Amino acid sequence: MRSTIRRALLQFGATALTTAVLFHYLPANHLFYVWPLTGVQLAILWSVWNHRLSRVTQICAATAGFLAILIFQGYPLRVVAGLTCIQGLELWGMAAVLRLRISRFDDLKQMRHVARFGIVAVVVPMIAATLRAAVFYNTVHRTFLQTWFITGMAHSVGLMVTLPGLLFLISEESRRSQKFRSSYRLGLPAMLLTFAVTFGVFAQSKYPWLFLVFPPIVLALLVWGLEGAAIICPVITLMACYATAHHHGPVWVVVQGSMEIRTVVLQVFLWMVPGTALPVGALLDERQKAESEARAGQMIYQTLLDNAEDMILLSGLDGGQRYVSPGVLSLTGWQPEEFLSLAQLETLHVEDRDLARNLIESLRSGKRQHHFRYRILCKDASYKWVEAFLRGYSSAEDGHVTGYVATVRDMGSLARLEEQWSQERADLTRQNMHLEELAGNDELTRLANRRTFNRMLTQEVARHARAKNSLSMLMVDVDFFKKYNDRYGHPEGDVCLRMVAESIQIASRASDFAARVGGEEFTVLLPDTDQAGAEQAAQRILSHIESLQIRHEGSPFGYVTVSIGAATWPPEFVADEAYLIQQADRALYESKKTGRNRLTSMTADLQEIADGAMSRRTES
Ligand code: GH3
Ligand code: MG
Ligand code: MG
Repeated sequence: MRSTIRRALLQFGATALTTAVLFHYLPANHLFYVWPLTGVQLAILWSVWNHRLSRVTQICAATAGFLAILIFQGYPLRVVAGLTCIQGLELWGMAAVLRLRISRFDDLKQMRHVARFGIVAVVVPMIAATLRAAVFYNTVHRTFLQTWFITGMAHSVGLMVTLPGLLFLISEESRRSQKFRSSYRLGLPAMLLTFAVTFGVFAQSKYPWLFLVFPPIVLALLVWGLEGAAIICPVITLMACYATAHHHGPVWVVVQGSMEIRTVVLQVFLWMVPGTALPVGALLDERQKAESEARAGQMIYQTLLDNAEDMILLSGLDGGQRYVSPGVLSLTGWQPEEFLSLAQLETLHVEDRDLARNLIESLRSGKRQHHFRYRILCKDASYKWVEAFLRGYSSAEDGHVTGYVATVRDMGSLARLEEQWSQERADLTRQNMHLEELAGNDELTRLANRRTFNRMLTQEVARHARAKNSLSMLMVDVDFFKKYNDRYGHPEGDVCLRMVAESIQIASRASDFAARVGGEEFTVLLPDTDQAGAEQAAQRILSHIESLQIRHEGSPFGYVTVSIGAATWPPEFVADEAYLIQQADRALYESKKTGRNRLTSMTADLQEIADGAMSRRTES
């Protein structure tokens, strides 16, 4: 709200000031060369155009400012009312028509917008001038046509000169100054030259050389574009009006007649200045923008190509190579120019050329892409295996495939990558196995659990089959353990189990594998161990546990003992792993049956099994 009021005050003040200045310099013959008021009002009005309420406030403020000065000047009420209404209508008409497309300075930087502005800036003032002439022409003692043309042109020139300049002044600071700062060395002299020539032309009254002003204008526009035009036009207009009003300049040479005709000549000249400068400036800016966009686009592609690790090749189906990216150097050792000077098939190994020919043929007949591997010729005359992705491209005219883009990649680096991946995969597997192992331990005794034991057993049985060594297994079961639990309690039982597990571990060799496979049941897997070795290991376990002398009043021995069943497969014996467990289990059963605290050993002697002579008692 506060900004609406502030802007309304600005509009009021600017309108009143401009009108006052204009009337101050009102020539005796009541002829205005230029009427810049509408341009000033429009520039301020546009800044609030999107807010309906502010828009109405602005038009009211503009009308009030204008009205105030007119009343102050002491015009009759009829004149004041008529002029105020027409000025208000002109302002609103211009704003409404142009606002659809042009409201900022940058909008003018397109040819079609400048053209639209030029047309509207003639048509609307001329319509307003018709009204003005209809109402006032007989009060100023002039013909209708004279009044119409001169006021219309004054408003039209005023708009063309003031509006771009003001829009430029209120456009963003950075954009405003950057263009001037970057090229002031060329632009400033050109602009000064324009002003000097204009001064020269209007300071004299001998030669009608108005046209001399245009070449330096074009020069300044070449450097500063539309921004240049926005500054040049008001300055030239000011200089020309001032000189003419003081009886200087070509206008006084051309026509020795009435002041009306002189005014028309000056106005036509003044109209031609922005009428030329604005389109030329916009055109140059448009072109400059298109060029810099194209350059930026090209930069992006070039950066992508320069930094691509693969070699990117553009080739015609006719066999000519058009472009190769710098990647060719690291892949083949050829400089891009050297590579391009080779014939297309020359860069392939002889044996790969037929395949390449076929692929190119199939691209020609419509297939869009290919993937193939070939040997590329390197600069040192060696060949390198590469992998290429081919994609056909069509000409813009007839849509036929005229060439292809190939992305070529060293397969050596591909192989290295694959190797790296498989290495990483293996590491991961190992880590997983380690984790699984952690998960595969028995919580109470820290020995392996049944799952891990089963996996180890499968591995060892397979190894036994391959390596032709003996394989043994012990099955260990605590004697009368239920009674132990009953008498000493479950927690004590756990302590006992831990001690038994520790004994088994201590009595086993590093290569043996001990596990807790059930409540008070343990196994030991003994790779490369024959029956004698297994029996020794079992004896060590028996005596170690016995030496602990863990009190067990429920046992006839008076201390904790274990029973062991041992099974051994001789080198040449092959069977599945379940059979080894079954044998050890049977041996254990035999130990239990025959008094406990002992070892029963069994080999996979088929004859022995068949005979049923399965056990060999060993007293502890
Ligand atoms: P045998 O001499 O014939 O082997 O008799 P046993 O009592 O040892 O055999 P049985 O299989 O009848 O009893 C095993 C007992 O082991 C039963 C159960 O209470 C106990 N047990 C199983 N797991 C655990 C455990 O984790 N902690 C404890 N404290 N006891 C367990
Ligand atoms: Mg048991
Ligand atoms: Mg038991």
